[in-house]
Amino acid sequence: MKRTPQDKKLEALLRASHISGCGFLGTDTRELWEIIQEDMNDVRAMGQTAKSIASRMKELTVIGQRGLGEWVPAGEHLQVQCDDSRGIIPCPWPHHVRCLKRTTTVKSDTGEQLRWSDLNTHLIEVHGFFEGKGALFRLEPKKLIAVIFQDE
Ligand SMILES: [Zn+2]
Repeated sequence: MKRTPQDKKLEALLRASHISGCGFLGTDTRELWEIIQEDMNDVRAMGQTAKSIASRMKELTVIGQRGLGEWVPAGEHLQVQCDDSRGIIPCPWPHHVRCLKRTTTVKSDTGEQLRWSDLNTHLIEVHGFFEGKGALFRLEPKKLIAVIFQDE
C-alpha cells in the first residue's frame, strides 16, 4: 500500500513519545496500516466489528461510572471500575476529536483484566486501531473480545 505524506506524518506522530508517554505504536515495527489490517482480520474472524466492540466498551464504561471508583458488577462474569481522571487527550488523527483521559478497568472471574481509556474506544470505533504491540494501552483484539463479550 502506497503511503501518502499525511499517512507518514500520522505514523511519525503515533511513534512519538510526547503525546501518550511511550507512543501509540510501542515497539511495533509494522506500518500503521498493517497493524490495523491484521487486528481487523482478528476482529472479523471472531464475528465482531470495530463498532460492536466500541459500543460494548462504552456500555461497560457507563456501568463502571456508577461505582464512583469502586468495582461494579457487570453481568455474571465481569466487574468494572472507572477512574475519574479529568484530563482530555486529543486523537492523533487530524480531525480535532478530543477524549476524556478516564480509564475503565474490567476484570473477569477467570482472572483476566483489561483497561482502556475513552481514547482507546474512539481509536477502535473510528480508526480500527488497537495500538501497536508494546504500547502502554495496546488492546489485543482477541483477548478484548473474549473478555468483554463473555456475558452476551
Ligand atoms: Zn480520531
